[in-house]
Amino acid sequence: MITSTQKLEIQKRILSWYAEMGRNDLPWRQTDNLYHILISEIMLQQTNVPKVRERYVSFLEKFPDVNALANAKQSDVLRAWQGLGYNRRALNLHKCAKILHSKYDEKVPENVDTLLTLPGIGPYTSNAILIFGKNHDLATIDVNVERVIRRLHGNKNWKKLKSPSDKIKQFVPKGHSREWHEALMDFASAICTKRKAKCLICPLKDFCKSFPDPSDFTKPKNREVGREENGKHVPRRIFRGRIIELLRERRCDLTQIGVTIKSDWNDISDKKWLKEILDNLEKEGMIERIRQKWKLK
Ligand code: SF4
Repeated sequence: MITSTQKLEIQKRILSWYAEMGRNDLPWRQTDNLYHILISEIMLQQTNVPKVRERYVSFLEKFPDVNALANAKQSDVLRAWQGLGYNRRALNLHKCAKILHSKYDEKVPENVDTLLTLPGIGPYTSNAILIFGKNHDLATIDVNVERVIRRLHGNKNWKKLKSPSDKIKQFVPKGHSREWHEALMDFASAICTKRKAKCLICPLKDFCKSFPDPSDFTKPKNREVGREENGKHVPRRIFRGRIIELLRERRCDLTQIGVTIKSDWNDISDKKWLKEILDNLEKEGMIERIRQKWKLK
């Protein structure tokens, strides 16, 4: 197990690595405006850092504050979300802004329980908002953070732990949660990477029970629901994303949508499948049907 002296040394080394090598230029790390942090955290839920970096600033130019987002048309919010994928997040963000506008004086609440009542905000995001925006002494655990701490302990020891999440929380240095989480996330993406970890140049190798070769216990991934396209399995969320991209530009009927979003579209066998996706998008409030054509809501 890792002793408390080793833990202090690990904290020191990760923070000093971060001071030299961290991504300090990320725009959402230059602010403590909770609305801006909220936007970045929702974007980062399922989109990678380079893509979020591309879209974050332009989104905030269009919707600089809660008031602007709350009063925007839903179709404009979906348009500004272009390229980020998982469009349901944009709808939740829009609903969230309306609630902040009507109930919270256009301010993002500064406590976890209230944040958790807002659409699209779960335990990870609520803590992340308060860590990155206010440096609250909280912990937030994603797969990358978990990977580093687990490898430090070694897989065998890790499996024996009763509450691994408590172990991760114990690593957060009091009063430095923002810096710590930023550092750990950058360290996980640059050094202790999922594949081919850079153990030989790792500043933690003296303490790491997985050095020099972390062999992870990775669970086999379940295949996502999807459909064959030109002999390849394509997840349904990709087709959903393509539909939204198309309807951002124009109204279309079913066949126009089909031939655009699926390169081997079959007018007989694919129709029922596509209709189901469109019905779901309509139920979720992202699109609407007017006579035989669909458009963004
Ligand atoms: S030695 Fe390797 S496995 Fe251990 S923390 Fe460093 S990069 Fe990760």
